[in-house]
Amino acid sequence: MNDDIRNEVKAWLEFYQELGIEGFYRREAPAMGTPTVLETAMPPKPAAGAAAKQVSSSAPARGATSLPPPKPTAPSTPTPTVIRPPAPSFNLFEAAPAPRSGPETLEQIRQDLGDCRRCKLAPTRKTIVFGEGNPHAELVFIGEGPGADEDEQGLPFVGRAGKLLNRMMETVGLKREDVYICNVVKCRPPMNRTPEKDEIDACSPFLYRQIEAIKPRLVCCLGAPAVRTVLGIKEGITKIRGQFYNFGSTKALATVHPAYVLRNPREEKILREDFEKIRDFLQAT
Ligand code: URA
Repeated sequence: MNDDIRNEVKAWLEFYQELGIEGFYRREAPAMGTPTVLETAMPPKPAAGAAAKQVSSSAPARGATSLPPPKPTAPSTPTPTVIRPPAPSFNLFEAAPAPRSGPETLEQIRQDLGDCRRCKLAPTRKTIVFGEGNPHAELVFIGEGPGADEDEQGLPFVGRAGKLLNRMMETVGLKREDVYICNVVKCRPPMNRTPEKDEIDACSPFLYRQIEAIKPRLVCCLGAPAVRTVLGIKEGITKIRGQFYNFGSTKALATVHPAYVLRNPREEKILREDFEKIRDFLQAT
């Protein structure tokens, strides 16, 4: 080893010693194309046609192992699996990796999202609506995407649909500040149209990371886009609503979007019914 390299190695070793890293070992870099290890956790965007597993049509008890079998109409493919990248092989002569202690925080995810330009919603949005609420919430609501009021204020569900969501929470004794609220896409689609596949594909990894960071006991999908994105279920919302599904290590329930109830006020009772199920689930487990 010539003196230049020796001095460079010495400088790096001193740098790591100052960080408290003393022991080093040599690891062979993995061969290109080596298959990735799979680990079960929060599902990524499920493949087309993949669907979460229905676990019960009523509130399950915490830790229950004998859940009722799914109804015949229920989707039956296994809960999706997330593919975790292999641990990076790290080289003393490259920049030191950012220190990571414990799971990701919502702040880190927000920082990573940055001034997002990953999809075609970016040019027309005013504000990125990341999400709002308790970072340790037991319950996460997932809507479709910001509307005009949300785009203006940078907060989810602050318009008419939000008022109804708040009222529904109140009727079952839930406080808005105790839950976490976010959307399938974080930017307002023009004219409030339904988010398109490429937009959902670009945005949903951040949603999954948010859920993984919060680790709620229950995720409530409000409306079809949330159900399709989170649970991979394409069946009509009115058919699959009010049922509990496995979603990684947590549970998910699908219900109608509050905006649908605003357009069809007689349907308020089904939203209320599903919110009562949410309350029962959270109280029972
Ligand atoms: N509708 C949604 O789906 N999300 C919001 O944040 C507001 C209205």
